[in-house]
Amino acid sequence: MPSWLITGASRGIGLGIVEKLLSEQENFVIAAARNPSTAKELQALTDKYPKDRLFIVKLDVQSEESVAEAVKEITPLLPNGLDYVINNAGVHIQPMTSFAEINIKELIEEVIFNTTAPIIVTRPLLPLIAKSEKKKIIIITSVLGSIELGGAFVGLSNAYSISKAALNMLGRKWGAELKPSGITVALIHPGWVQTEIGDAISDWMHKYAPDVPHIKPAESAAGVVKVSKDVTLESTTSYWNFDGTNYPW
Ligand code: NDP
Repeated sequence: MPSWLITGASRGIGLGIVEKLLSEQENFVIAAARNPSTAKELQALTDKYPKDRLFIVKLDVQSEESVAEAVKEITPLLPNGLDYVINNAGVHIQPMTSFAEINIKELIEEVIFNTTAPIIVTRPLLPLIAKSEKKKIIIITSVLGSIELGGAFVGLSNAYSISKAALNMLGRKWGAELKPSGITVALIHPGWVQTEIGDAISDWMHKYAPDVPHIKPAESAAGVVKVSKDVTLESTTSYWNFDGTNYPW
């Protein structure tokens, strides 16, 4: 049974991915949340699924200590390693702020959070990933991190776009480094999704990009899971939309 670990599983796209994987009846899902006790919707899933399908672990993606604790807790559950890690947790602090208005402290926070979280989480998991059959590292990025596409969206999520562009470089370089070990890295844009992060840019999207659909987490999650399964070592370090098409860098 393939094993998956998803960060930011308390709500939004992360929770959607957990639900999608559980519905498939063939996955062991480790749902990582920084505050499992307050993640009510996630907790409710434990009434429906046994511990050998769903295990919830406390994990703060900004704390190496927290990740070390989580890895200690889950290692005995993964005798065949960890097939997939989905680095989903992210922050989006200044949605519609011009460069004249941008708050530097918050810019630093967004860039640091979105670029360091996948390293903090994934590095200690590498031995488990290397031991697995699938060996896949998934990074949830954004189309806003595309220099070519996101670069044209004037006035939208400037700090966040910078953070996701840097994240794309991280995924591409790390993927190249890991390829000889047989580990695949994929960067996936999850679509424009009805979550706290997605809803924060509704005004801008309705005005300047009215044709882009505002999809539900379930639709996004189905695409992310499909792309995650479909990517191969040959296509490692590619930048995907959730519908399975490639984005330009
Ligand atoms: P949400 O705001 O709904 O969810 C964010 C998640 O990140 C929550 O589960 C939150 O947990 C978690 N999180 C925040 N800080 C930490 C932390 N320190 N440790 C662990 N978890 C943390 O956003 P989305 O579901 O929309 O976003 C998921 C990903 O998708 C992000 O990387 C985002 O950038 C990306 N994305 C989203 C788009 C959209 O339209 N929604 C578009 C493009 C990309 P908690 O409940 O504890 O706060």
